[in-house]
Amino acid sequence: MANSDLASSGLTSSDLAIGVDIGGTKVLGGVVDTNGSILRTFREDTPREGGDALNRVIASVVTELLSTHKTENIGISAAGLVSSDRQTMLGAPNIKDWDGVNIAQALNKICGINSIVENDANSAAWAERVYGAGKGQENVIMITVGTGLGGAAIVDGKPLRGANGTGAEFGHMRVVPDGELCGCGIRGCYEQYASGTALVRQAKAAISQNPDSARDLLARGDGTIAGLVGSHITDAARAGDRLAIAILQNSGDWLGQGIATLAMLFDPSIVVIGGGVIDAGELLLEPARKAMMREMPFVGKHPVPEIVAAKLGNEAGLVGAADLSRN
Ligand SMILES: [Zn+2]
Repeated sequence: MANSDLASSGLTSSDLAIGVDIGGTKVLGGVVDTNGSILRTFREDTPREGGDALNRVIASVVTELLSTHKTENIGISAAGLVSSDRQTMLGAPNIKDWDGVNIAQALNKICGINSIVENDANSAAWAERVYGAGKGQENVIMITVGTGLGGAAIVDGKPLRGANGTGAEFGHMRVVPDGELCGCGIRGCYEQYASGTALVRQAKAAISQNPDSARDLLARGDGTIAGLVGSHITDAARAGDRLAIAILQNSGDWLGQGIATLAMLFDPSIVVIGGGVIDAGELLLEPARKAMMREMPFVGKHPVPEIVAAKLGNEAGLVGAADLSRN
């Protein structure tokens, strides 16, 4: 919808918002209306040098979207720790020269816009809570099972940011004392047991013990254990491969064990699972539900959350950041 169509649609510019998702390869911006629909998108490549070059690309994406849709609501969704005033990237593990940068101030300097910055997991959880699988719920946990394990909590209708922007980093909750070493420096983190990376590591260990059982699974890649990736496992499981199903069951079990703890801490009505591994659907969710019940403290004495798949897919971060900029 062009801006000139706004009057006839009954929308005003303050109803619209722009969300920008900062990915490893692309900066994807979109204009989002109050129904969560994306009216227009625009993307540019993420510059490898990060820092100010990235700020200029974000400014360019926003400026392009503003040329057709006027709004003052602009939200940036990025992986990392974000200050509680929603301005500064305290720590961005995947982007060069962005640590400690006040993104809101930098964008204002480049192109005169006001914006907020949100953690990508918070943005996606908010989108699911307003428009997706957790629609209308006040207490929502979202777990994004991708390369790592991202976490976000909506508590009493508000995203949990914490005092320092490090709230709800569930991926680094310790689930196994002296377990696998994590990139964060601690051993035994949740994401070392329930993530796409963990899934592949667990699969490789199972296959090396019994390579004959994995002939069909390995044929989805280059035939070697080293060539195995997560999508081979989810695809093979969906096609009925017994080994792949067992590997996913193991991952789902770990996921559910962590959810039992999170359910006691946050008392959510729903736990939304997103990220690439959720392509496995019920093959992951069913074992997660069983493990949650098995490990749930005071089981039978209190309601337990539903565990469901996310609905909004890859655009959730963009939509959530846009919507949060209106609040
Ligand atoms: Zn960790």
